[in-house]
Amino acid sequence: MNVTYDDEQMVEKVNPFDAVVKQIDIVGEKLKLDPSFIECLKHPRRIIIVSVPVRMDNGKIKIFTGYRVQYNMLRGPYKGGIRYHPRVDLDEVKALAALMTLKCAVVDIPYGGAKGGVTCNPKELSKSELERLTRCYTAMLLDEIGPYKDVPAPDVYTDAQTMAWIMDTYSQFKGYLVPEVVTGKPVEIGGSEGREGATGRGVALCAREAIKHLNIDNMKGLCVAIQGFGKVGKAAAKVLQEMGCEIIAVSDSKGGIHAPHGLDVQALIEYKNRTGQVAGFGDTKPITNEELLEFKCDILVPAALENVITEENAPRIKARIVAEGANGPSTPGAREILNKRGVFVVPDILANAGGVVVSYFEWIQNLHREHWDRTEVDKKLEEKMVKAYRDVAEMSRKHGVDLATSASMLAIKRLADAFERLGLFP
Ligand code: NAD
Repeated sequence: MNVTYDDEQMVEKVNPFDAVVKQIDIVGEKLKLDPSFIECLKHPRRIIIVSVPVRMDNGKIKIFTGYRVQYNMLRGPYKGGIRYHPRVDLDEVKALAALMTLKCAVVDIPYGGAKGGVTCNPKELSKSELERLTRCYTAMLLDEIGPYKDVPAPDVYTDAQTMAWIMDTYSQFKGYLVPEVVTGKPVEIGGSEGREGATGRGVALCAREAIKHLNIDNMKGLCVAIQGFGKVGKAAAKVLQEMGCEIIAVSDSKGGIHAPHGLDVQALIEYKNRTGQVAGFGDTKPITNEELLEFKCDILVPAALENVITEENAPRIKARIVAEGANGPSTPGAREILNKRGVFVVPDILANAGGVVVSYFEWIQNLHREHWDRTEVDKKLEEKMVKAYRDVAEMSRKHGVDLATSASMLAIKRLADAFERLGLFP
């Protein structure tokens, strides 16, 4: 696995879970929902914390802490990624699990929400240590995950190989192959065509819908800056360029680059795959991550980690549209400032939902032992994303609220409808 990351603290002191709970309360009041339902929605159904002993390459055993938060299953099995990062802690996993619950409801797919993670520094682990870590973490969760129970997927610093190890460990335990226990697998073992780039494609599709929403003629020549050049950032760059945009600035954990006349995205992807960084690519000027966020551009895509747009830097953001590729890249305070300043924010639970949509397609294909071609996957993804964008925009128009609020309203309304029919079980 090609792992790069840095320790840079770009974090405003916001408890990520408190921020989600606050949003749930706001929506509950706006929609006048049953307070007991809102109370249920503010608590994860199950929190699993495991100690993961891993034999390191030097023969010694090291214990890592792993989490799985199964937030809500009102609309279907728990669903959510697994993150390997030194900053993983319970509040972060709870917040991401709650956001997954809302995200699956916004795009109207039959899943609940979950998230997992292991507090570790993948940069310091060899491939075989990562494999042992993943297999042991999976073994600790064997009774908790399953195709109709909880279906993990990749997130920050986990990838298709990680999912293959999970599937293999789970299948050994069952005694037969169970590809539908995870999504985001390699295509050769049941992964979906188009899954790897699906989140980035979804971000680009949402940016395109936002452009139409703002009555801007077309995408041709619009300038884009992207923070984070991993799975999401690379795919968003590629699709936005295909749509006619110029990608003028990109960054990753090692720094950023600026090319006023646009970057050759394919060549940059190859360079990043080869060197592990974007810095030093071709005829570009070096910039910092902070400068990238404040670049004058039409579309800003934060696609790295959370809380990078804060109350401190929000007054200096010059983009017309912020399409949130990462989960929780803007703090609640920052979103308020951006709204007041007329910066149009397409929120994470809508903008980055393309990944879970194609995960859902992968799960259906696995359950039916089918394999859809790339054209079919991309077409179905586009239909889902455009429909979700329009549903959110309609809610925003009807209630006179911004897109972030209306996306949460739409999701929580759908969850409330299920709650009313089902009662307390979920
Ligand atoms: P990734 O591990 O593939 O890439 C992360 C990128 O962020 C890397 O380029 C890394 O260098 C960069 N980065 C890390 N720390 C940084 C820093 N301090 N400053 C600037 N860049 C930094 O991860 P990913 O899958 O692309 O996920 C990125 C974000 O998108 C995360 O918030 C994740 O939760 C979210 N997301 C991912 C998916 C998915 O399908 N992969 C789906 C929905 C949301």
